[in-house]
Amino acid sequence: MVQTVVIIGAGIHGLAHALAAARAGWKAEVIEGDPVARGASIRNFGIFLPTGMAEGLATKAAAISAQRWTEAAAGAGFPFFPCGLLFLATRHDELAVMEEFLSLPESRDSEAVLLSGREALDASPLANPDHVIGGLFSPRECNLNPREAIARIPGWLAREYGVGFHWGSPAVSVEDNVVRCANGGQFRGDRVIVCPGADLQTLFPGHLQEIGLRRCKLQMMATQPMPGLDQGPIIASGLCLRHYPSFSRCGSLQQLAERIAAETPELDRFGIHVMASQISRPGGGLVLGDSHEYDGDISPFDKQVIDDLIIRELRRLIRPPHWLIAERWSGIYVKHPHKLIHHHQIAPQCWISLAPGGAGMTLSFGLAELFWENPDLII
Ligand SMILES: Cc1cc2nc3c(=O)[nH]c(=O)nc-3n(C[C@H](O)[C@H](O)[C@H](O)COP(=O)(O)OP(=O)(O)OC[C@H]3O[C@@H](n4cnc5c(N)ncnc54)[C@H](O)[C@@H]3O)c2cc1C
Repeated sequence: MVQTVVIIGAGIHGLAHALAAARAGWKAEVIEGDPVARGASIRNFGIFLPTGMAEGLATKAAAISAQRWTEAAAGAGFPFFPCGLLFLATRHDELAVMEEFLSLPESRDSEAVLLSGREALDASPLANPDHVIGGLFSPRECNLNPREAIARIPGWLAREYGVGFHWGSPAVSVEDNVVRCANGGQFRGDRVIVCPGADLQTLFPGHLQEIGLRRCKLQMMATQPMPGLDQGPIIASGLCLRHYPSFSRCGSLQQLAERIAAETPELDRFGIHVMASQISRPGGGLVLGDSHEYDGDISPFDKQVIDDLIIRELRRLIRPPHWLIAERWSGIYVKHPHKLIHHHQIAPQCWISLAPGGAGMTLSFGLAELFWENPDLII
């Protein structure tokens, strides 16, 4: 008999579990509190970023995710652009980290290459010739429109894999593999996977504090359309080098971090490291961000000072046709202080499963699949 899994949450992590479960032969039922998913999964840059991931499990998960995104994009009908990503350097200490990264044995298979100032300008129509002195180009990064992808994947999962979706059904309790919803709905599964993103309080108040999980708020903007523009590779600044785990192995990062702390402490204060991602091409606006504020610093109100700093840093890096902002928003994710992913077994066949902080669009498909191969996998 086919076994059933009840999945709470239709963000990328819940959708990834639904796909992995269906591929493993299970019948998946997804319960989403909102009429459509509105969490971190539609608020992000839409960057699939394997090069920034640490060696080991994350690299393995990213490789699986690349395949699943390609299949989902083809099946659900949304673009997954293999545009690559260009870390632009405006300072020599940033170039030093890029160079060291490429010299590491772990980077051997990364396919990334160091670019001179001229080559970086040739690679990107956005790069600012007044400041850019070089860059690191990685061909493996891809770009997608998260709003479109997260809206379309459920239809594809329903058609291709028979996944059931129950929208506008906030789950209010999980007990003995029975999920009860505020609208009276009740679902029993042989297994239950809870993927609520940053909203753990509704079902498991206290869990955040017990496990020491951290909440992180990011501020984002999008420009008005840029007619005729194809940005080429996604752009990331040298500031990002201190954010992605793959660069943490570089000894030269220390000097870069110290210089930023001394010269521009306001960037550390708000966790700012800037990127620009054109999620609809050609002609779409640029998604710009971001900042990182944790726990007690998180306010319901976005800060103008953060948007100004993001734009200030981006202006050094890129020269788009205009800077007219069309939208501003923020998103929140939760993050385990030292583990890649948080799987917490709360009953014999019931788990809380949280996406890997700022990398759910890169890793959730792969991590969910590895979980369905072996739920006891220690992560
Ligand atoms: C601004 C920003 C930029 C980012 N950029 C990137 C990027 O470029 N690349 C990348 O790889 N990652 C990125 N990330 C990280 C990525 O977006 C997250 O890791 C991922 O979206 C988290 O997915 P999720 O499904 O766990 O959470 P969510 O997307 O928040 O989904 C959780 C869902 O569960 C539902 N839910 C919660 N409680 C209940 C309940 N009780 N009953 C029913 N439903 C419930 C919610 O309504 C929601 O739809 C970014 C994140 C942010 C915030």
